[in-house]
Amino acid sequence: MNTKKPPYVVRTPTAVLTRGFDPRLSVGSARPAVFRSSTYVFSSPESAERSFEIALGTKTPEEGENVDLIYARLSHPNAEILEDQVVPLEPEARAAAVFNSGMAAISTIFFTLCPPGKSFVYTTPLYGGTYHLIHHFLDTLGMHGVPVLAGDTDGLKKAIESTPNLRLVFIETPANPVLRMTDISAAAASASRLSTPPFVVVDNTFMGPTFQHPLIHGADIVVYSATKYLSGFSDLLGGIVLARDTDLIAQLRGIRAILGNILQPDECWMLDGRLPTVTLRMNRQSKNAQRIAETLAHHPKIAKVNYPTLFEDPEQIRIRDIQCKFPGAIFSIELKGGKRAAYDFLRNLEIGRNAVSLGGVETLVNHPATTTHSEVSHEDKKKFGISDSMVRFSIGIEDWRDLLHDFHQSLDAIAE
Ligand SMILES: *Cc1c(COP(=O)(O)O)cnc(C)c1O
Repeated sequence: MNTKKPPYVVRTPTAVLTRGFDPRLSVGSARPAVFRSSTYVFSSPESAERSFEIALGTKTPEEGENVDLIYARLSHPNAEILEDQVVPLEPEARAAAVFNSGMAAISTIFFTLCPPGKSFVYTTPLYGGTYHLIHHFLDTLGMHGVPVLAGDTDGLKKAIESTPNLRLVFIETPANPVLRMTDISAAAASASRLSTPPFVVVDNTFMGPTFQHPLIHGADIVVYSATKYLSGFSDLLGGIVLARDTDLIAQLRGIRAILGNILQPDECWMLDGRLPTVTLRMNRQSKNAQRIAETLAHHPKIAKVNYPTLFEDPEQIRIRDIQCKFPGAIFSIELKGGKRAAYDFLRNLEIGRNAVSLGGVETLVNHPATTTHSEVSHEDKKKFGISDSMVRFSIGIEDWRDLLHDFHQSLDAIAE
């Protein structure tokens, strides 16, 4: 009988502060140092040869083997530390790769996993940059995209079953800016039934890494714009990809080395310092947003508030309940009075700032139809529900009563 106790496994808030960082490698510094060097000195010619074999994928490292670093475009200590420390935030993830923006991460996923001539299925609406990548770039390279409306579970299953040469399923949930959710486990189940299963990729920027964990619902890859909640202060750009399969991450790192889109040492160091507080910040932001969204839902100048706790569609409620722990800090409203009312509202704000982006500790508000989603055709905007009267909010960590006061005074000031 084995009487050995299983090893004690620390919980996420502890792991994110302790994993993957050895103070002895940073001259005893209690927090990681910054290593700005572009190139690294080999311990011997043999170990240089070994490093190149491993970097080029002709050999695989032994368990626990220490491989010399080569050159910072391939990897560097701050990327390695960040990649180790972010893993515990995403349940079931075993490895991560960091990129110099969310778009760099998303394009590298497409380039690596969906060769020209192959197809992918994607949910709509999508983040504006991803939309542009698909329509103005992947299309011209012969990668064939099949759109499915977010939340259309049957449509998604059918598209996965019937699209020839399918390599990738790209899901953004909840969809920006309408907050419609897509069922990750339904997509993963359909994908796994195919003879060559496509990779299921989830852009988890809106809800993760605190409120939604795509890998536990069967996704293969989770991608983040770390520019948003992970960094949290609207002062850096970054992207992170996480997966269960370490070979898949190694493959993405290989393409990253050629495209040259690794996250730089200073940014890695900054982002690494933000990880231990992401759950604290997001919890506060979600509580603030919930109080505000639920109050605004009764305002006479507002026709509708799009927010997870205010869902009415039973399918949306079902997906929300299996997929999300909390409603998050993004919502959109539809004002009575169209574009003029939306612009008046934005003009009158005193605390909320009229800016794109989201996830920072400060509250940002914008008009999707003419900014982040201005590239979407008139017809598609109608289909997705992105109207001229829509305003999107990313709620920060200010006192929610001050924010609500600001939104009320701004609503009052809308010209009749
Ligand atoms: C911001 C964002 C991106 C792109 O990230 P960048 O860091 O700006 O390149 C992708 N997806 C979603 C959902 C986003 O909000």
